Amino acid sequence: MSIDAAPACPQCGAALRAGSMALCRRAEDDRRVCRMVWACSDRHVWWKWADRPASPLEPCPYPDLGPS
Ligand SMILES: [Zn+2]
Repeated sequence: MSIDAAPACPQCGAALRAGSMALCRRAEDDRRVCRMVWACSDRHVWWKWADRPASPLEPCPYPDLGPS
């Protein structure tokens, strides 16, 4: 699977669309890292660390960052 392929929504399986990037402080390694926000057409919003393409999607608490 290409890291550029749009992932599927873990909740409903629909294709996700890319939203905004969010700069977050990662407690694990004390770095400021971008998170890529993704959302499906049902407005389930997820994000993942931009520097870790293989990391799992996590629920995003900021739905406003999703694609409009
Ligand atoms: Zn969904």
